[in-house]
Amino acid sequence: MREFTISRTTIAMLDPIPQAPLPHTDRLPDPYRAEAGVLADRLAALDGALDWAAVKAQAAPWVRAVRENPPPFWALERLLTEYPISSDEGQALMRLAEALLRVPDTETAIALTADQLGRADFDGASDAAMARLSSAAIALSKRCLSAEGEAPGLVARVGARSVVAATLRAVQLLGRQFVLGEGIEDALRRAEAGQRAQPRLRHSFDMLGEGARTEADAADYLDSYRQALEAIARRADPARHPSLNDGLSIKLSALHPRYEPAQHERVMRELVPRVWTLCERAAQASLNLTIDAEEVERLELSLDVFEALVARVGRECPRWEGLGLALQAYQTRAVELIGEVAAIARRHGVRLMCRLVKGAYWDSEIKRAQELGLAGYPVFTRKHRSDLSYLACASALFDAADAVFPQFATHNAGTIAAVLQMARRRGTARFELQRLHGMGEGVYREVLREGSVGCRVYAPVGAHRDLLAYLVRRLLENGANSSFVHQLADESVGLDTLLESPFARCAGEEGGPAFAPPTRLYGAARPNSEGLDPAVAAHREALATAWRQAAVPLVPEARPDEIAPAVRRAVEAFEAWNQRPVAERAAVLRRAADAMQARLPPLCALLVAEARKTWPDAIAEVREAIDFLRYYAAEAERLLAPLALPGPTGERNTLRLQGRGAWVCISPWNFPLAIFTGQVAAALVTGNTVLAKPAEQTPAIAHEAVRLLHAAGVPAAALQLLHGPGDTVGAALVAEPAVAGVAFTGSTPVAKAIQRALAAQDGPIVPLIAETGGVNAMLVDSSALPEQVADAVVQSAFRSAGQRCSALRLLCVHESIADGVIEMVRDAAHALVVGDPSDLATDVGPLIDAEAFAGVARHLARLRATAVALLPEGEDGATHTVAPQLFEIREVSEASQEIFGPVLQVLRWRGDPKAVIAQVNALGYGLTLGLQTRIDSRALALAAQARVGNVYVNRNTIGAVVGVQPFGGEGLSGTGPKAGGPHYLPRFCAEQTLSVNTTAAGGNVALFSA
Ligand SMILES: Cc1cc2nc3c(=O)[nH]c(=O)nc-3n(C[C@H](O)[C@H](O)[C@H](O)COP(=O)(O)OP(=O)(O)OC[C@H]3O[C@@H](n4cnc5c(N)ncnc54)[C@H](O)[C@@H]3O)c2cc1C
Repeated sequence: MREFTISRTTIAMLDPIPQAPLPHTDRLPDPYRAEAGVLADRLAALDGALDWAAVKAQAAPWVRAVRENPPPFWALERLLTEYPISSDEGQALMRLAEALLRVPDTETAIALTADQLGRADFDGASDAAMARLSSAAIALSKRCLSAEGEAPGLVARVGARSVVAATLRAVQLLGRQFVLGEGIEDALRRAEAGQRAQPRLRHSFDMLGEGARTEADAADYLDSYRQALEAIARRADPARHPSLNDGLSIKLSALHPRYEPAQHERVMRELVPRVWTLCERAAQASLNLTIDAEEVERLELSLDVFEALVARVGRECPRWEGLGLALQAYQTRAVELIGEVAAIARRHGVRLMCRLVKGAYWDSEIKRAQELGLAGYPVFTRKHRSDLSYLACASALFDAADAVFPQFATHNAGTIAAVLQMARRRGTARFELQRLHGMGEGVYREVLREGSVGCRVYAPVGAHRDLLAYLVRRLLENGANSSFVHQLADESVGLDTLLESPFARCAGEEGGPAFAPPTRLYGAARPNSEGLDPAVAAHREALATAWRQAAVPLVPEARPDEIAPAVRRAVEAFEAWNQRPVAERAAVLRRAADAMQARLPPLCALLVAEARKTWPDAIAEVREAIDFLRYYAAEAERLLAPLALPGPTGERNTLRLQGRGAWVCISPWNFPLAIFTGQVAAALVTGNTVLAKPAEQTPAIAHEAVRLLHAAGVPAAALQLLHGPGDTVGAALVAEPAVAGVAFTGSTPVAKAIQRALAAQDGPIVPLIAETGGVNAMLVDSSALPEQVADAVVQSAFRSAGQRCSALRLLCVHESIADGVIEMVRDAAHALVVGDPSDLATDVGPLIDAEAFAGVARHLARLRATAVALLPEGEDGATHTVAPQLFEIREVSEASQEIFGPVLQVLRWRGDPKAVIAQVNALGYGLTLGLQTRIDSRALALAAQARVGNVYVNRNTIGAVVGVQPFGGEGLSGTGPKAGGPHYLPRFCAEQTLSVNTTAAGGNVALFSA
């Protein structure tokens, strides 16, 4: 492993660019506005702009020619029509393509291959070369490997190795279709050969790889971009316009490990100078340097970076017209974005290049909007709408020809013909077409036969290891049923379908989202809580306003003599509250949820101020509280409805649940709103009254939640807040004999103390629901993707400064990939911003108080004496902040204590992963477990073996969502039932069966009339 000090030579030497104040707010409309309205605008703007019959007439011969005379590599397209990615075989192929090449050890490669091929049926594949190879690999594997995916006996193992080798070759071949060369020189040579055959061909090279997770990654990328530029520049003619030379495409996420909207200031300070060095070189050689389009959340940030660069081009090399930006037509703001880019060009007196694409991250944009509970989707939800938007954008680009040189990147014959028609109508030839290497070859062979239009090929360069993520994107694109290249290869798709007018399709529909908006994710009966997107300026402003107005009210402590009367009042209020129909109590909860939703920004501000939460954590917490209220309202109506039970004739048997009495709810400071609200709501909606004791550190948030519940209709005596220390107020409440139940979330020792206190009482046996901590582990095998692991680990271990019971405490990495993974985790953790949580840029806020800080400091002193510290010390007693800490240990058993802070322990494992899980089980906790593996059968087997409440595969281990990932553990981690799950409410209830002899008042009428 490298030493901690990262060589930053290439980065540190750059001069900072003085920043002109940039308008990084409200450049663009709300990305989440209604899709229907946007679509209507686009249709109106394009009215009469195209004659689709003529478009079709031009494109149809291209399609026929490609089908009659397919280009080389057509086998892949055929393979994917035979095995669509939605089929088991397609999935297997994609998963192997994503993972197999990076697995370093044979055992895992065998297990992965068997796992994926074992479930698929490749028999009878077409005789195309690719399919033959795959079929051969699969057929062989079926003979040699067991379906379970674990290494079989010795003889079979020899066979298994051959299967893996054959499959590897198949995947490499897949990769080679999309990559022009392993190195830039190699790629340039191949590009030149292509240019000799077709002189109007240009290239834009792309250096493959995952986005940078660390400064070292960013430095490596910068070097590889520079080397590529040098090589391209050597072959370019600086006297020519950049559209006539080859160029380079770059990803800003590769050049900075924190290329995120929240890190705006740092990105502008550090990233812009890096990119500028590339601009300078591209300008000298008159090359086209294009910034690729990435996720929507980075759009506004990318515009700010872009404008800073354009401003400097304007000052230092205004004659260079080669700086470019890729724009995604699937974004609902795409047309406005083009207007903004043109405005930037005009503002700084520079001409730019603009590559129009449809967009490559559609599925992840949909998922992010759903996860954040946003008001809508930032992308169109139907493919033909993106096609239409593309044409509206094309028109806008032609209109902005004074400022930008349009570059149209698509493989869709209809889209290409439409763009050509637009150009003809305007009498312009000042544009180019673009395609990806390995895609659209057939169509472009035909398109380039006539006319003089130029075509640029986006040409990925890199070793096999680096192409995996790119390969998966391309397979998705080639394999999706709706994709043009997929349909082109499928001869059963007729010309009318293939070249159907997007106008006709869009005009004929109502325009709303194709599937439920994020707020309706759980159906109409339970609205999803709505979130905010900190990447959007207007949303950030709502938080900033709330912050300016935030005040933390002083909540008086309950005096000892107030406890017993409060319990008495709660007991007296029980009867009436329990008698209220469940629908009424549920309605009260829903009103409280709506009130919280309406007050989301001020509640977030209170969480930041009192609980020292970061803004993203605060938003997630308010949403969780809202979800608890709505979920338990719905669950109560379902569960508390009388249940008719079968029995003998002449009798009616029903079971019903009802409240038990007065409950004590004791909640922690780490989720002072969500856990507090969850406990209280569950107790109330089932008919109980509540004595709520919040954590001493966070009474104001609890006070606000209680105020909202009272305002929503909970009687004052049915919910009373009793703030004060646990050992006085908490202990006194638990000791009250009239208490009917206790819900507690907190540490294991306090839970045990409560259990003992309850057991010591005479009288009824009082139920206790306890949710406590955990020593949560994550097991990573060698099929896992290190970048995905690093993201998941950093979030799980260090978000909320590690102050979550679900936080990752122990990372177990397979020895064959441990060096790289540990280094990446370490450097990514070191790149986190530690500090004031009210600053949006802060990742790791302070620990909750001096006591918590002292506790973590004690553990750190112990670990520094017994384990290998991998990160520098970073405790600050004045602010109670602790910078992320990473220690390497040797045995699972060394991590037996829960450290409630940003402290992660890591160890290397070898051999059988089941043995690791057995050791984790032996720690006695049972809350969360993370598994990172591409071997599905292994993930399932390990999950079944693990004695934990929540298992997360190939993702982070925090942020359980109400009703989606019910949360809670076993063993030392708690009693269950899981919060936010279907079994939670019954624990708060007494059960009663009602058996009525229906014949007592006469005969058995039911039997006679049956
Ligand atoms: C030279 C070049 C450079 C590229 N650079 C980038 C880049 O920088 N950033 C980037 O994101 N992509 C980039 N792409 C990829 C591009 O965004 C498209 O994914 C790809 O070109 C497929 O679009 P198409 O027009 O060729 O095919 P088509 O089959 O006509 O369109 C497929 C596209 O439609 C959209 N789509 C699919 N399903 C739906 C749906 N249900 N609702 C709405 N829209 C849907 C998606 O954008 C999908 O990629 C580039 C492509 C090329 C050719």
